[in-house]
Amino acid sequence: MAHIAVIPGDGIGPEVMAEALPLLGWAMAKGRRVTWEVLPYGGNHYLASGETLPDAAFERIRDDFDAVLFGAVGDPRVPDGRHAEEILLRLRRDLKLGVNHRPCAPMLDALVPLKGVTASEIQLEVFRENTEGPYCLRGETEGSQAIDIAVHTEAAVGVLMRAAFERALELGRPLTFAHKANVLKHGHGLWMRAFTRLQKEFPTVRSAAMHADALLCALVQRPGDFGVIAADNFLGDLISDLIAAFQGGMGMAASANLAPAPSFRCSGLFEPVHGSAPDLAGQGLANPAGMILSTALMFRHLGWEQEAGAIESSVQEALLKGAATPDLGGSLHTSEMGQALRAALP
Ligand code: ATP
Repeated sequence: MAHIAVIPGDGIGPEVMAEALPLLGWAMAKGRRVTWEVLPYGGNHYLASGETLPDAAFERIRDDFDAVLFGAVGDPRVPDGRHAEEILLRLRRDLKLGVNHRPCAPMLDALVPLKGVTASEIQLEVFRENTEGPYCLRGETEGSQAIDIAVHTEAAVGVLMRAAFERALELGRPLTFAHKANVLKHGHGLWMRAFTRLQKEFPTVRSAAMHADALLCALVQRPGDFGVIAADNFLGDLISDLIAAFQGGMGMAASANLAPAPSFRCSGLFEPVHGSAPDLAGQGLANPAGMILSTALMFRHLGWEQEAGAIESSVQEALLKGAATPDLGGSLHTSEMGQALRAALP
């Protein structure tokens, strides 16, 4: 029995989650044994109760659930983003979900914004370190000087790099390590050592290190040359938004936060790449595809390959038939798009 914690969160999170939740019922109707519980954590709950993610709730998620299905957090009424840190960053960090896996396989030629490039030429997967780098929220502002500290540890970097090499081997695709070791000599120097070690361990994987700025340029010019991309938390964040554009935009991109060697029952958190997009919230303008495709990633993680593949095919079929929210140039509302994306499910 799979037990799923559902956190819709803020902004467009609940709107896109409403379009993904029927997939849990559909999986159940297909014979999968699954239960789920919707948890209230997010901006509204924080403002009403002062609670972000209470310890007891975190421990329940960790010990009693197999995975988290997550919408988005971020609320303009909480300008310091405190609740988002204490909910999402905590779940990633304390569940030891060190690998953020963000695949990019565009579903339709028309969605690829690059001149002369077809969807089938692009098969990219970003492996973004998920718990460290400059996102460890350490630093200070003193007078006219501000300092952010970036932490990189051999343990976390090793986990990320190994996961990326294993995936490149499995896919038979090249691996590119994105870095700025020329200037970030300490942190990215550590990354470079991990990369070089793993290169020796995986001699059959075609691998290369590239300065991240040069990589961004090359990705736009010749995306078909690349496969798996390993990067730290900050660079991985930037690269994954670029490749989200290759799939049609932020509304299309899915992600899995994974613990390759799980320490707890809860071993994955699945969320769209986009955030809470307050500019779109409450208007039915959000594209639910990223959320629905993240649910497919969760099903695959649970071992439900058939259902995961069926969701992806159904989304592709709907897009081929022209289903589109405004971000894709169409006029469907979020719920109409959700219905269209689920329409071809067996
Ligand atoms: P975060 O830091 O949490 O990633 P962000 O500030 O980078 O958030 P997002 O919430 O990801 O921003 O949104 C960026 C923009 O992308 C939004 O303003 C919106 O225009 C667009 N966008 C995001 N998600 C969607 C979606 N599901 N459908 C359509 N457009 C979207």
